[in-house]
Amino acid sequence: MPEGSLIVGTAVSNRYAVDFSGEHAHKPIAVARPANTQECSLILEHCNAQRQPVVIQGGLTGLAGGATPQPGELAISLERLTGIEELDKIAGSMTVLAGTPLQVVQEAAAAAGFMFPLDLGARGSCTIGGNIATNAGGNQVLRFGMMRNLVLGLEAVLADGTIVSSMNKMLKNNAGYDLKHLFIGTEGTLGIVTRAVLRLFPKQPAKTTAICAVRNFDSMLELLAQLQSRLSGSLSAFEAMWASYFDYVVDHVNGLKNPFDASHPIYILIETEGQDAEADMDRFQAALEAPLESELVIDAVLAQSERERQTFWKIRDGIGEITPMLQPMLAFDVSMPVTEMQGFLSDIDAGFRSRFGSVHSLLFGHIGDNNLHIGVTTGKESDFEQLCEIVYSATGAHAGSISAEHGVGVLRKQYLHHSRNKAEIALMRRLKQALDPNQILNPSRVIAP
Ligand SMILES: Cc1cc2nc3c(=O)[nH]c(=O)nc-3n(C[C@H](O)[C@H](O)[C@H](O)COP(=O)(O)OP(=O)(O)OC[C@H]3O[C@@H](n4cnc5c(N)ncnc54)[C@H](O)[C@@H]3O)c2cc1C
Repeated sequence: MPEGSLIVGTAVSNRYAVDFSGEHAHKPIAVARPANTQECSLILEHCNAQRQPVVIQGGLTGLAGGATPQPGELAISLERLTGIEELDKIAGSMTVLAGTPLQVVQEAAAAAGFMFPLDLGARGSCTIGGNIATNAGGNQVLRFGMMRNLVLGLEAVLADGTIVSSMNKMLKNNAGYDLKHLFIGTEGTLGIVTRAVLRLFPKQPAKTTAICAVRNFDSMLELLAQLQSRLSGSLSAFEAMWASYFDYVVDHVNGLKNPFDASHPIYILIETEGQDAEADMDRFQAALEAPLESELVIDAVLAQSERERQTFWKIRDGIGEITPMLQPMLAFDVSMPVTEMQGFLSDIDAGFRSRFGSVHSLLFGHIGDNNLHIGVTTGKESDFEQLCEIVYSATGAHAGSISAEHGVGVLRKQYLHHSRNKAEIALMRRLKQALDPNQILNPSRVIAP
């Protein structure tokens, strides 16, 4: 066995015991570290024959407990399966090994004059395989879609060790089932992704950014509709922050200052991306003129420099810094049609009031792509289950999803029925049974066996 490919006994460090959710840490019985697809296949073939359950680990930045070992599981870490195999400038594609960190892919694309548009706060640690398995979303979904839209082809190893290579490079390919979708967003329950062909886009060096303040939810939706029509394809972010979130972040994160003189009900970080900084800025300002004149937007600040732009994003990304200050806090990541959001927010507010009197909640989201993030705390961890029931039953009642982008994993499994009907869950079970009859791959994640 090649050196470094297996870690056993006391050499198994706590690093392999838990993902970023931080919950229910448990060391695996050992850690296998395949360096290529063939090794991955041999490990799974052997585990399948021995009925040995395994947990797949990428960068361990997941927030659903999916990569956290359950008792008795062997971890298969993809940390040695890294590297870029090819960057095809003509096809606009990049072929990478699944353990490659997202940031490495972004930087390699940029160096070749392209961009890989998936972007999220965990970029330095999360891996392409993990991004595929969770169908990651992030900051630019509005324009480029989720990870599913950025994968042209992939290679995966099934539970019995079979290697399925579907390394398609073409935009059009309707020759039978598009098998890659079995492995995108299925959180490692149907196979281990080992390689992928990613879609690249021309670099968009010019970014124009502003924060606008609006009076209420309806004004925000109207503004989104107007900007989508005036800025057509260049709108890349429309990130809403309610005062509960915005005020807390600017008051508590070091180095931040409120860019507005007065407090407003809702703030929206708006960004466009293009090729020509001057022309893009003119177009952006022209697009904001009418909403400002009609007072749909009650105040706006435009980033005048890259530094200022980064400060605006620091406010949006401030959740990472304030989360530790608000523990114990539950973080929800739900999505629903925008027309349902107002009713959903009223329902959870009424639920919180009647059950707890009051709670401390922070609200923000990628509204342009239906995603709401809600941080809630009553100060007591023992209230978590009731908070989940309130939020997830309201999500179901408003035709929403209990996980917009972070996945179901272990932590949201019991709430799946709020978003998926019986026939859907039964079909998921049939797929799992067909591809992993011995239930060895990431067992008890997403759906109960
Ligand atoms: C600061 C921060 C910001 C974040 N922001 C976002 C965000 O904006 N949007 C978003 O969607 N997520 C976000 N996340 C969550 C997380 O980064 C993503 O889910 C990411 O895609 C996980 O990648 P990973 O390599 O760390 O996977 P891991 O955490 O290692 O694993 C996640 C799941 O995928 C499975 N898996 C991992 N690799 C493979 C593989 N090669 N084959 C099959 N299954 C595999 C694991 O078993 C597990 O079930 C954020 C996390 C942090 C910590």
